[in-house]
Amino acid sequence: MKALLLNGQSHHGWLASSPLVKKILEQTGLFSVDVMTRGPKGSDMTGFRPEFDGYDLVVLDDGGDPWSEPTNEAFLEYISAGGGLALFHHSCQLFPQWPEFNEIMGVGGWGRRTEKAGPRLYWRDGTVVRDHGPGNAGDHIDWLENQIDTREPDHPITRGLPEKWLHTSDELYFNLRGPGKNVDVIATAYVDPKVESHSGYGSGEHEPVLMAIQYEKGRCFHTTLGHVDGGVPADHRPVAMECVGFIATFQRGCEWAASGDVTQAVPGDFPTENAVSTRAGCEAPSS
Ligand code: ZN
Repeated sequence: MKALLLNGQSHHGWLASSPLVKKILEQTGLFSVDVMTRGPKGSDMTGFRPEFDGYDLVVLDDGGDPWSEPTNEAFLEYISAGGGLALFHHSCQLFPQWPEFNEIMGVGGWGRRTEKAGPRLYWRDGTVVRDHGPGNAGDHIDWLENQIDTREPDHPITRGLPEKWLHTSDELYFNLRGPGKNVDVIATAYVDPKVESHSGYGSGEHEPVLMAIQYEKGRCFHTTLGHVDGGVPADHRPVAMECVGFIATFQRGCEWAASGDVTQAVPGDFPTENAVSTRAGCEAPSS
């Protein structure tokens, strides 16, 4: 399958994360990945016209400015006809003013999103809650290991994963809001209300971390995990992406978004309830 990775504008470290995304996808043996980098923030976007047709998957490792209207239209045609989208972490900040895109990714954060963007989504008592109360969208707690709860064990992406697994130190997003239609929240993480966050304190709710969204004939895999600092020093370890839980769920989510099913086995080094598991540089384990 063919994947197109788009990047170029973000205060996150996309120069470090994009090569890892490409490596993670290509090591499945399922994908070849082309990369297209747009100009910096504020530059003219009229010439940015990715050829979505011919790809099975579009991956966003990006933030920043709107695309041009013709590019938006081409993207919607691609998704509506059955194309796949995968996005992680900071890319949920993209395109707050584009209703269809927000529907495709389910929920987003920042970009001056408020309750007008849609409800907050979280998990309580065995189901997804859509909370229409007021508030800004997007907050995070920093650099804690977080236990992830699998919520839909029969979904192709989560089939065979442990019920609980420990994710490496990451920025954990919460208070994301959006249309929230046709969203399967397939994994969550509890955000402790005693922990200080970027804008206050944790939510005290089980927040979505892995989501699978259907939009017309297309599919979107949305993971909130995978923070990489901007302005990354050469010796920075992207520990959030080196987590085998991040790697394997991203590989599985991308396969599902592209094809509607998952054929990959859960790796033997997947993290357990109480122990993280990492791969330096996201290299595949030598078998
Ligand atoms: Zn981040």
